[in-house]
Amino acid sequence: MVYTDTRDKSVKTDFRTAVINGMNKDTGGLYIPVEFPKLASSFINKTPEPGFREIAFEMAKPYVEGEISDSDLMAIIQDAYPFSAPVVPVDKTSYMLELFHGPTCAFKDFGARFMARVMSYFNRNESSTLHILVATSGDTGSAVGSAFHNVPGLDVTILYPEGKVSKLQEKQLSTFDGNVRALKIKGTFDDCQKLVKTAFTDEALRSKLRLSSANSINISRLLPQSFYYMYSSLVVRSRAWGDSKIENPAIIAVVPSGNFGNLTSGLIAREMGAPITGFVAATNSNRTIPDWIATGKYEPRPSVETYANAMDVGAPSNYERIAAMYSLDEVKSLFASYWLDNDGIINSIKNCYERTGYTVDPHGAVGWKAWSDIKNGMMEKLVAGEKNDFTKPGLTPNIPKWANKVISKEALGIILETAHPAKFSSTVQSAIGISPTIPDRLEKVLSLPDKAIPMENDYNKFKEWLLANLK
Ligand SMILES: *Cc1c(COP(=O)(O)O)cnc(C)c1O
Repeated sequence: MVYTDTRDKSVKTDFRTAVINGMNKDTGGLYIPVEFPKLASSFINKTPEPGFREIAFEMAKPYVEGEISDSDLMAIIQDAYPFSAPVVPVDKTSYMLELFHGPTCAFKDFGARFMARVMSYFNRNESSTLHILVATSGDTGSAVGSAFHNVPGLDVTILYPEGKVSKLQEKQLSTFDGNVRALKIKGTFDDCQKLVKTAFTDEALRSKLRLSSANSINISRLLPQSFYYMYSSLVVRSRAWGDSKIENPAIIAVVPSGNFGNLTSGLIAREMGAPITGFVAATNSNRTIPDWIATGKYEPRPSVETYANAMDVGAPSNYERIAAMYSLDEVKSLFASYWLDNDGIINSIKNCYERTGYTVDPHGAVGWKAWSDIKNGMMEKLVAGEKNDFTKPGLTPNIPKWANKVISKEALGIILETAHPAKFSSTVQSAIGISPTIPDRLEKVLSLPDKAIPMENDYNKFKEWLLANLK
């Protein structure tokens, strides 16, 4: 596969370069494949539908062709995904896609684990270690740390702001041994990010250590997230008649979003032939994308804190890819767009529990409320001419192409449940009065000793530490 750049279409590079560089330093743009090849219809229409790993292999193949052999790719996928993505029906027209069955209980495991193994593969003939530096405000650091733990040839240093992540998140970041370690920085997330960025531009440091990043703009985190969209849409399509007596459903993926990497992966799956009719872009009060869809103006802004904190993003980095792939009019006909404030999140957790018995986390709750409102009359009112105020929680005024399928009750929603509710137990407890059961793998982390290394917010001290401790 040839990869190009969101800002300069004359750029042509390979998968390895796109993965190792993360972004194109020369243009500031993001790497993107020149095409999204459709899977064979014999594969997509197979009965029974193919399994998750089989889909993962078929989907990844064209993007690594000529750079990773089929047998090596299969090994990477087997090793990355000992878990899958269960599709759980919660009412007649809604399914939860549970993306929290990986080691850190959030969907970022899907991207991070594939990326780690691909990077290790590309580093296999190098004599020196590739050092990954990652700044985190919570979820990304643990997914990356866990994904790279004990992966040969790679080594990870996580920077997080001391006292500014939850107790559970801190345990998930700071209890690794071996090739993964955490530095707790006396500063903010932005300070952590600045230390990492300064290191990347420090030529003297880079002449001694091979450095790379692992952030969410990396194409090797985005591509694997498309696997579960294909998988779940095939599962839902084949269950539709039995579950809902709908013959030819419109399948709508409802995506709780922050940086919009997850939703971009959904677009890739659809381009490759997944039977997905449309998307709901669902955000918390950080409504930069809903505002863009409503007004046509893209205005990044500082983020605000919410209960769905992994979506607290005011300048979503994958806007760049969405805008490179589609015009605003195309986006408006493909997406409904919806945002929800903190009170709405609490009410939604409660509503979902009372109506279905399902305990949803604060991120999935944004998706649940969006889908419930859309199918229970909000889309119908919009089509009937009601004027929505997009500055209030709810739908933006654009009418997607699939609106009539929702109104005629021929649409099925797949809500992406991006984290396990136990990761946000106090918010869930305050909504439904019950604490979610903690999965064993989270419980285990709570009893491990904290190994985080304290560090001043001072670049020279940070650099000195790197040079003395990384090999
Ligand atoms: C990162 C994250 C999101 C947002 O995903 P994006 O790809 O940034 O849109 C949503 N929910 C959870 C639990 C996350 O960790």
